[in-house]
Amino acid sequence: MILWSRGARYMFCVEGSSMKALFKPVAAIALAASLSGAAGAQRDFSQVEITVQQARGNIYTLFGAGGNIGVSIGDEGVFLIDDQFAPLTDKIVAALATLTDKPVKYVINTHYHGDHTGGNENLGKRGAIILAHDNVHKRVLTRVVDAMEKKGDGPGPASLPVISFSENLSLYINGDEARAVHVRNAHTDGDSLIHFKGANVLHMGDTFFLGRLPYIDAGAGGSLVGAVAAIDTALGLADADTVVIPGHGPLAGKDDLAAYKAMLEDVQGILTALKATGISQEDAVAQRPLDSIGERWLAAGPEWTDRFIGFVWQGL
Ligand SMILES: [Zn+2]
Repeated sequence: MILWSRGARYMFCVEGSSMKALFKPVAAIALAASLSGAAGAQRDFSQVEITVQQARGNIYTLFGAGGNIGVSIGDEGVFLIDDQFAPLTDKIVAALATLTDKPVKYVINTHYHGDHTGGNENLGKRGAIILAHDNVHKRVLTRVVDAMEKKGDGPGPASLPVISFSENLSLYINGDEARAVHVRNAHTDGDSLIHFKGANVLHMGDTFFLGRLPYIDAGAGGSLVGAVAAIDTALGLADADTVVIPGHGPLAGKDDLAAYKAMLEDVQGILTALKATGISQEDAVAQRPLDSIGERWLAAGPEWTDRFIGFVWQGL
């Protein structure tokens, strides 16, 4: 589910242990409750279980709380894509130990959100080299300053990526090329897609929320136009055999990406036309304009749909 801390400057897109739970009515109620502000409280991570699923070959996915983690294992060490929350690092490392006895050598952050970068400090202290787009470095750095000045409980300097890139980057590890492809102004201004070219596995970060309207962090440069363009880029990287790891949700394929893009374009068309009439955001939300996109995309509940319109309205 999505947890939203209203008091904080930073919003985390947080996934429960199973995306399937979102499609149960009871989960929808829990989601609505969390969106109403109750989620600002400290989260109990003690109940979170990290599960492991093979994507293909030596590439795995870890599901826990927060963004899905991509894993490459092999003789050269472990390469992680994202690292969820700091309190989960020991559980994540324990789950990795069921796959390999090698240490975590590299971590790449698909974007700056805390449910994708929270483990950076712990893993950095254990010797992992952290990589990310330039804008991720910038935003994690800002968060450090804010946390030290205002909250005192944020991540420390060890959370910072030590290698950053402006467009694309290739990491050659475990017999494969992991290609990080920056997509502009999609979920944030620092998103990367990570494509394992040999294994043909594509980690989407939060440019892809399987089966629902996404969170778009407009305050950090995200936009609906960029979100559609990101899926276009992904469709260019993928083929019919590609295993797609969404930022949140179960493993997927190219068809799921195509359906998601069609939905986003549908949404873009509806909202752009509505905004062109001169209507206010508030009145637009009241019209429930996205009810027509199909129930399968609206499982996160009406309050989330309203918030989604708020995320993207300004940028239309
Ligand atoms: Zn995110």
